[in-house]
Amino acid sequence: MNPRGGIPLHAFQACALGQTRRPLQDRGRRLPPDATAAGPVYPHIPLYETSSREFALTDEDLMRVALDEAAKAGELGEVPIGCAISAGDAVIARAHNRRETDQDPTAHAEILALRAAAEKLGNWRLEGVTVASTLEPCPMCAGALVASRAGRLIFGAYDPKAGATATLYNLVQDPRLNHEVEVAGGVLGDECSDLLSNFFATLRRSR
Ligand SMILES: [Zn+2]
Repeated sequence: MNPRGGIPLHAFQACALGQTRRPLQDRGRRLPPDATAAGPVYPHIPLYETSSREFALTDEDLMRVALDEAAKAGELGEVPIGCAISAGDAVIARAHNRRETDQDPTAHAEILALRAAAEKLGNWRLEGVTVASTLEPCPMCAGALVASRAGRLIFGAYDPKAGATATLYNLVQDPRLNHEVEVAGGVLGDECSDLLSNFFATLRRSR
């Protein structure tokens, strides 16, 4: 009898034999030299490095726009998460979480920003854009990033509860899907996570 219910035993054999699966990021991707020794929590995810892009708009600049959006969400009583999208040096879309305001489970900052960017470009294919999110995208938003063919994702804080581009899953770099997105985590990570923890601390105090 299979002790693990419906999951076939062979699914566990690699673990049982002490083999380790190569992380998705290893397959054909160049990792920073210390990426695999970065720490026990997120060992396979490239830590943020100064961008090598040649744009005047830096990753930090774009993340500051996303942070500005996140602050707006906080002022509305929404969980402060923001997103900004650039094409070259231009910020083409920005949005913040509106789940409570719209009573819409899909009104995450990333979804709203991806829609706005597609509208702006008149094209659902967002190849070449950089998407900055203050929090690591959830499975829904990671799926939308793949569906939009986004070129690049930078995010601020890691999300141990729902992170689907590094922490719990890496849906945006799964070679089985038809598109992979370049990812860098921890961009202005402290500021992004401080915004969230201050919001929840205030919420707890007000209860
Ligand atoms: Zn999301």
